[in-house]
Amino acid sequence: MIRLLIVEDELAIAELEKDYLEMNNYQVDVALNGKDGLKMAVEGEYDLVILDLMLPEVDGQTVCREIRKVKDIPIIVVSARKEDWDKVQMLGIGADDYMTKPFSPSELVARVKAHLSRYNRLVGNFKTENEIVEIRGLKIDKVARRVFLDSVEKTFTSKEYELLLFLAENPNRVFGKEELFKEIWKAEPAGTDIATVTVHIKKIREKVEKDSSHPLYIETIWGVGYRFKM
Ligand code: CA
Repeated sequence: MIRLLIVEDELAIAELEKDYLEMNNYQVDVALNGKDGLKMAVEGEYDLVILDLMLPEVDGQTVCREIRKVKDIPIIVVSARKEDWDKVQMLGIGADDYMTKPFSPSELVARVKAHLSRYNRLVGNFKTENEIVEIRGLKIDKVARRVFLDSVEKTFTSKEYELLLFLAENPNRVFGKEELFKEIWKAEPAGTDIATVTVHIKKIREKVEKDSSHPLYIETIWGVGYRFKM
């Protein structure tokens, strides 16, 4: 999931931007003042920042300059100030783009996409929405085949990983054990094969569930199979 940060003190504008970006499958957080925005941008794992200039606590120029000291992520300034001098100044202190309010939300989305893809080309980071599966603190990195729970890495065997990923990518659907065996082991189940699925689910739960008797992720649907809760 690509994460974006909006730093904007006008709630209506922040919500409009957030709605449009979420419709385009970005995960969006909002900071309503410059101080929170700067802290979130520096400490968080954001892929791009949308920044207003006239902000309470810490102004947009300072936020931009401070982010730039520690991060290379694209910064798009969205401001009511129309003077060329403001644009030139912001681009000079590290902003990647400057949009003037009022703006069209679809243009904002288009520019966000363009900056993200340009940035990914430059840094050789090919992370896309589909390469990370993230659900309530559980993060599956499909490229590295690594799993994190609340940022702590968990080690999985190859089949455990494939089973977890398959369920997580098909959430809210119930799968029978036979079906899961065929999907993951690529064979018709025979003998004790079905029990293998049960054992693997148990092992996955021991790693990802805080309380195996009240699973947050993989639910048992009695007599039917398992379902990954979204
Ligand atoms: Ca403002």
